[in-house]
Order: sequence, then structure tokens, then C-alpha cells
Amino acid sequence: MSETEVPVLPELPQELWRAGKLELAHGARHFLQMMRAATAGLGRFLAEIESRGAKDLYGYGTTEAWFADLAGLTRGEAGDVVKRAVALNPTRALDGTEVPPFAPATAAVAAEGMIGEQRIDQILKALQQIPAKTSPEDRACTENQLANLGRDAGPSEIAKCAKQMLAWLDPDGKEPKDPEPAHPRRELTVERRKDGFWNLKGLLDDELGARTAAFIEAYSKPRPTDESGQADFRSKAERQGDAFADLLDLAIACPDQPGTNGYRTLVHVTIGLEELKTGLGTACVDFVGEMTARDARMAACDCLMLPVVLNAAGEPLDVGRLRRFVTPGQRRALNIRDGGCAFPGCHRRPKGCHAHHIHHWADGGRTDLRNLVLLCSFHHRLIHHGEWEVRMATDGLPEFIPPQYRDPLRLPRRNTLHRAAA
Ligand SMILES: [Zn+2]
Ligand SMILES: [Zn+2]
Repeated sequence: MSETEVPVLPELPQELWRAGKLELAHGARHFLQMMRAATAGLGRFLAEIESRGAKDLYGYGTTEAWFADLAGLTRGEAGDVVKRAVALNPTRALDGTEVPPFAPATAAVAAEGMIGEQRIDQILKALQQIPAKTSPEDRACTENQLANLGRDAGPSEIAKCAKQMLAWLDPDGKEPKDPEPAHPRRELTVERRKDGFWNLKGLLDDELGARTAAFIEAYSKPRPTDESGQADFRSKAERQGDAFADLLDLAIACPDQPGTNGYRTLVHVTIGLEELKTGLGTACVDFVGEMTARDARMAACDCLMLPVVLNAAGEPLDVGRLRRFVTPGQRRALNIRDGGCAFPGCHRRPKGCHAHHIHHWADGGRTDLRNLVLLCSFHHRLIHHGEWEVRMATDGLPEFIPPQYRDPLRLPRRNTLHRAAA
């Protein structure tokens, strides 16, 4: 047959407009079947070309490239045709041994022109999902069923049947069932940078991640404006950082921690008595090195860090020793008396609060209820570093004196929120 000759097609009626509806249907079906059979025949040629190598035969890198050129197709379109051809027809390996077709039963139905390329692809895809452990008989049986169904079934019926067959071949599903629960995966690194800040980096599994997110969310809400008049200008990240500090405060408030002998601290701060009293100069902190004496004084106030106080000769001093620690009983009484942070307008509950010494223990202040007041970490800092003052009123409850620039009369104020709530 020369290249310009139109192939002779049988039974092509001359006057189609005269045909009845049955004849039309029959004709359409007949041509469809011929077309599909012809496609199957084309596949045998393509598989043979693939076996011999398009490079040796025609100088093309691949059979797809050659066929794309021949048929005016894209590489992708040609690739689909070649892939199907190779799956349905025997090929030969490089050493000449024959490789049987991947889907012989489907190939037989295709050769009859009884199945189209989309359904063939559907069957090939299902066959690829058959587990490796399946016996050749079971595999052949599965393919037979799908191929025969392909003669007159549509896409959804084939999909349904393929699903059932695969479930039958592999009742455990694709992934083997793991009898052991997944290991928790939690990683955390805490590293000090050269500039004195610390990097906290972590990887949490779902369970710990969700609990962390819930905690941070609950503790990082913007602070309502208190009576010092400061609105909460912290960014979200800053509020979350403070929530993390609260987390540590809460954890450290728990009496049974390792290495603390029941006292709420793990970190030592070493400071000279003079520095501790005046808040001037520097102190030495575990893991860190230097910190300002002012910060150390605050950290030592409620023993957030364990203070080691040195005399001028550098010898450790016994400054009240254990008396500076708030006992659990005192803390409970303090929680009941103040009901939360005692600063006017502050909503914080007792749990995350520090027990502030009104007169610092380093200055001879006693660790008893008349010298202690509950403050959240924010207001604790404000009292230590700002111009607000706190004192114990004659009725035994703390009161706060605003700085002169806020109230020229410096009238004492109290937090009424916790009492109102109680
Ligand atoms: Zn304090
Ligand atoms: Zn507060």
C-alpha cells in the first residue's frame, strides 16, 4: 500500500442519509471496533520497534520520539500509545529473551477491537496495584475478569470491580498494619547566641504540638489595660514568648522537680552582697555568664534562680538561707489572700505569679505574709524596675502607690478584680 492510498474500508454505505437508525448504530459500532482493532495492530508494530530499538532502526532516541514524528503527536500523546503497546504485546529484552506481555488477557480483548484505550489504561493501572506477593494464578484470574468486563462495561463498573479484586487480593490494604503505635517524636534545642539571646528550636509530634499550641494560646492573650495605664503593645510573638516564661514559672512552682530539693529553682545566680542590695553591677548566672545585678535581684526575689551570695572576699554568705524561700503553706495562704496578681487592674490568676518580697530579703526583709505579695511576671518586673511602689497597708493587704507623674497625690490603689470575682 502506497502512502497516499486510502485504506479500503468494508461496508461503507454510499448514501448514509438513507440509512435507518439501526443501520447507523450498527455502522458506528462496526467502525469503532475496527478502529480499536487497528489500534491493537498498531501496538504490535510499536512493540516490535521498541524491542529492536528506534535508535538502531531510525536514528531516534526513543520509540515515542519516532512515533510522535510519524503521527504528528506530542511526545506525551505518543508516549501513551507506546506504553500501552508495550504492556499488551510481547517484547524482547536486550539479550533477546522474550518478555511476555504485561496484560495478555486485555491484549486479546483489545485485538478483537472490543475495548478502547481509556479502559485499557484503567485495567493496566489496577494491575500495577496488585501486591507483589500475589500468585501468578490469582493475578491472571484478576486480569481475566477485568478484561472481560472491559468488553461492555464503563469506567465506573471497571473501577468498582478493580477495587473489589484488589481488596480481595490484599485485605490489609496497601500499607502493612503496624501493631506498634508510632513513637512520639519530639526534638528541642536551646542554644545561646553570641549576642546574648537564646535560640529555641523544636520539632513536635501532633500530640505535643497541639498541647503546646493550646497552652501558648491560652497564656498569650493580650493583657487588659491595668491601672498603670499601659496598653498591651506586645506583638503576638512577644506575647507567646512571655507565655513560654509563664510555662516555666508554672513548671517550677511544682514542688517535686528533679534537682531542686523542693524549691522552685534550677539555676544559680552568684552575686556579691553589695550588688544584690544596690542592684548595681553584675551577677553571674549558670549557663549564661553575666547578668545585671538589677535583674539578678529580681530573679533572687522569689528565688526564680537560686542565689549564691558572696561577701567582699568572695566567700559564700548565709543570707537568711532557707528563710528566703516561700514555703508551700505560705504560698497557699498568699494565693488565697491576694487571689492573683495584686497589681491594680491585673487579671492574672495565682498560678503563674511570683511571690515578691516587699522588702528584699537581702535587705533583711522577712519571708512572711506581711512582706510578700503576689505579682505576675510583668508586674513583678514593673515593681522592680519601674516607679510604682508596693507596701503593706495596716489592714494587712498590699497596696500600690503610683508614680508622681501619674498621680501627683500618689494615692494608694488596690486590685479589686479578684475579690469581686470571689
Ligand atoms: Zn520581687
Ligand atoms: Zn499582674
